[in-house]
Amino acid sequence: MPLLVMKFGGTSVADLARIRNAAEKVKREVERGYDVIVIVSAMSGKTNELVGWVEQTSPLFDAREYDAVVSSGENVTAGLMALTLQEMDVPARSWQGWQVPIRTTSQHSAARFLEIPRENLDAKFAEGFKVAVVAGFQGVSPEGRITTLGRGGSDTTAVAFAAAFAAERCDIYTDVDGVYTTDPRIASKARKLEKIAYEEMLELASLGAKVLQTRSVELAMRYKVKLRVLSSFEDTDETSGTLVCDEEDIMESKVVSGVAYSRDEAKMTLVTVEDRPGVAAAIFGPLAEAGVNVDMIVQNISEKDYGSHPGSVTDMTFSCPINQVARARKALEDAKAAGSIVYDELVVDTEVAKVSVVGIGMRSHAGVASTMFQALAADGVNIKVIATSEIKISVLIDRKYMELAVQALHDAFALETAN
Ligand code: ADP
Ligand code: ASP
Ligand code: MG
Repeated sequence: MPLLVMKFGGTSVADLARIRNAAEKVKREVERGYDVIVIVSAMSGKTNELVGWVEQTSPLFDAREYDAVVSSGENVTAGLMALTLQEMDVPARSWQGWQVPIRTTSQHSAARFLEIPRENLDAKFAEGFKVAVVAGFQGVSPEGRITTLGRGGSDTTAVAFAAAFAAERCDIYTDVDGVYTTDPRIASKARKLEKIAYEEMLELASLGAKVLQTRSVELAMRYKVKLRVLSSFEDTDETSGTLVCDEEDIMESKVVSGVAYSRDEAKMTLVTVEDRPGVAAAIFGPLAEAGVNVDMIVQNISEKDYGSHPGSVTDMTFSCPINQVARARKALEDAKAAGSIVYDELVVDTEVAKVSVVGIGMRSHAGVASTMFQALAADGVNIKVIATSEIKISVLIDRKYMELAVQALHDAFALETAN
């Protein structure tokens, strides 16, 4: 039997009517002759609520219990989706991660897949069930504890199942009708892309475009999964949405193909750090051990030439996700107390955002950085930190200018037109 994976995100299963709407899409594929693995997210807002409860209960929470709580939203939707399908005379059964079992590493809240054995689901399909509804975002660790895959992780569950079951396609149904040149919610001129290369999608996702979780794109690229993003609110067919595919399959060739942003950033500066070999290791070692995902890093000549230590000094600035600031602060203060790093002050700026331009064409074209910086300057946006790689340029700016910057860059690279 040919098999499809269909994933429905939070807004697509936000209430019973929407679950029914999604179930109708599933039924249509069953009628076309497919077995279907449906991956569901929690109802929209649910995971945020659960995360809030955990943080209120225990600010520096035990990650195992965080996962036990936040994974539960998906369980509800999986059961409701199976019931809805049964009401439509579609034989369906729900599966929580441990029942499959979806085996992952034990990195709680950032677990990675180890194995998805096919036997249990295959046996159910062989019994005549047409649909397996799997709770997204979750798995089970080698220790037998529930894990989660990081926010937005149901996308990754979907792609992993598509790879494990050799699905014909992995369709990600969401609240937009495809991948756009930038978030259509903040730039009205955003243009829907018919196709996007895996590598570009990977960069856009990792730089904040939450339409797909980064890891899902990585897996799709590695296992050559035919991945599509499309609307759960519109009538759709095989040609709808955006296909994420190989670079060679794309005709369009813009230097920059998209703009991404992330508002959940914080900038931390260690003021007047001793400038000696090993100091960066002494700072970033404890941060890594504390599980802080450091992103951009700059080392500057310190504005202060005094401090608690004589000799040359530097300022070390880095960015990290805003919800890791407390962890980062503790790691640095502990290291200072233990004497392994010396600094005068820790300055935290939580009012920043990261804006990035992405494009495979940047490999062979110069001048993207200057166009970007000019566009930002023309709108009076000050750049705090810059980071570049082969196919992207990112800047950290004041959060209040984020939307303005995204729109300015979308205009500067003429993304509203295809050529
Ligand atoms: P789901 O709940 O279905 O997983 P998400 O909220 O995680 O949906 O992702 C969809 C959202 O991603 C859209 O509503 C849109 O605001 C946002 N988004 C950000 N960047 C883009 C982009 N380049 N193209 C399309 N959507 C984007
Ligand atoms: N419900 C989880 C989240 O909100 C996973 C997902 O929706 O993909 O992050
Ligand atoms: Mg999502």
